Amino acid sequence: TEACLAAIDGADVLGAFVHKTPEIALDRARAADARIKSGDAPAMCGIPIGIKDLFCTEGVASQAASKILEGFRPQYESTVSGRLKDAGAVMLGKLNMDEFAMGSSNETSVYGNAVNPWRADDSTEALTPGGSSGGSASAVAADLCLAATGTDTGGSIRQPAAFTGIVGLKPTYGRCSRWGIVAFASSLDQAGPMTKTVRDAAIMGQAMMGHDPKDSTSADRAVPDFEAMLTGDIRGKVIGIPTEYRMDGMPPEIAALWERGAEMLQDAGAELRQISLPHTKYALPAYYVIAPAEASSNLARYDGVRFGYRAKLEQGDGITEMYEKTRADGFGAEVKRRVMVGTYVLSAGFYDAYYNRARKVRALIKRDFDVVFAEGVDAILTPATPSAAFQLGQEFDDPVQMYLNDVFTVTVNLAGLPGISVPAGLDAKGLPLGLQLIGRPWEEGDLLNTAYAME
Ligand code: GLN
Repeated sequence: TEACLAAIDGADVLGAFVHKTPEIALDRARAADARIKSGDAPAMCGIPIGIKDLFCTEGVASQAASKILEGFRPQYESTVSGRLKDAGAVMLGKLNMDEFAMGSSNETSVYGNAVNPWRADDSTEALTPGGSSGGSASAVAADLCLAATGTDTGGSIRQPAAFTGIVGLKPTYGRCSRWGIVAFASSLDQAGPMTKTVRDAAIMGQAMMGHDPKDSTSADRAVPDFEAMLTGDIRGKVIGIPTEYRMDGMPPEIAALWERGAEMLQDAGAELRQISLPHTKYALPAYYVIAPAEASSNLARYDGVRFGYRAKLEQGDGITEMYEKTRADGFGAEVKRRVMVGTYVLSAGFYDAYYNRARKVRALIKRDFDVVFAEGVDAILTPATPSAAFQLGQEFDDPVQMYLNDVFTVTVNLAGLPGISVPAGLDAKGLPLGLQLIGRPWEEGDLLNTAYAME
């Protein structure tokens, strides 16, 4: 813990930690030492970790990287961070992210962007760590902590993991309780571990998961011992290679990476099978209707009354001006864009044409996966991202280009499936690239084992 705290203090340039909690960390580390001495040491005991700013942490600023939550110190702990705490994990502080988890580059944060600790061989330009869990990815990759929590609504664990050469697991929807995590799009949001290795993801993921009566979508299912399932034996497993993910304009480097990953799995005894997921091309548009729709509803609660920031008012301002000024000043541009799109697609005149249509497309996307799993496919291999980490600023002014980062990851959230991003080598410039494995619902153990065989 002391080594991590020192590393964090020396790495302010990465912008990874936005609230440091050294006193809490040292207290918890001492308590962990005592537990270890007494022989009662659970899996995460004494492990220093970072917590994404989206998780409510008792008495510690939890701002979802937004101005509108300035000064908000929750009186409660999210279920997931509470479970980690109970398992002995040591919180070092809160991690940077895109505002309300909306973004793919960590550039929409009120704190400013986080920075990727990797640099291209031929460049001194700073790169994005990805988003929205950019601070988590940067901190783990730069050894500021041993692991971090992330959340993933459309790729926010897997894409930053791929950009920084670490492992990121998005569990099945319902595995991790959403209670106490600031809501973005409730039918898509899932917490998960971001770690250096697959084994760490197994251990930390297990500590995070489990039924919680406080979240009605949390699944009442036993969480297996994932670490015990890591045998590396994947002989006879059927790995699907989906034709539709071979998109026009896929960089040859990404295509080659995907090919190599498939060969690696085959060499380990898996059987490769070409599969079709025909509705894939509608996933991104459907996601960018459903996610903003849910966000516009979830973000209605930030009204200057109940949480955080309230704008300065003038003589004569009434409650409407208070709402308007608070929201105009408290939300950043990307969040406003989402609220406007969401309100529009839910409005009486357009609900059927957009929101309902997107929900139907979502059902078809889910069915595509159901069909291939019913035909015996155990896991699906795809690239995690369409490129390696890009330069900060490069895509910031082009929302559609930014949204295209999620092309391989959003299907997994729409279908509620588990997905994992595993480091799979470096590109020609020496930057990390990731591959994604998608698993059957509730079979994170099997998925982790397949990822383990690739590591
Ligand atoms: N980049 C996607 C978005 O902006 C995904 C974000 C996420 O998974 N939280 O919506």
